[in-house]
Amino acid sequence: MAADVQAGNEHEVSCPHCKKTFTATLLPGRRARGFKCPHCRLFVPLERTAGSPR
Ligand SMILES: [Zn+2]
Repeated sequence: MAADVQAGNEHEVSCPHCKKTFTATLLPGRRARGFKCPHCRLFVPLERTAGSPR
């Protein structure tokens, strides 16, 4: 449920790289908004999370 994604709030993210889920805050002020996976340490763009319809 990422209908209202804002910086500073925690979100549950499904990592497209390692397929694991984690809770993280959106990194603010970056060119590409997203999260950093604590499992594989790869960057997960916001549009790649489960909350996006695309
Ligand atoms: Zn990962």
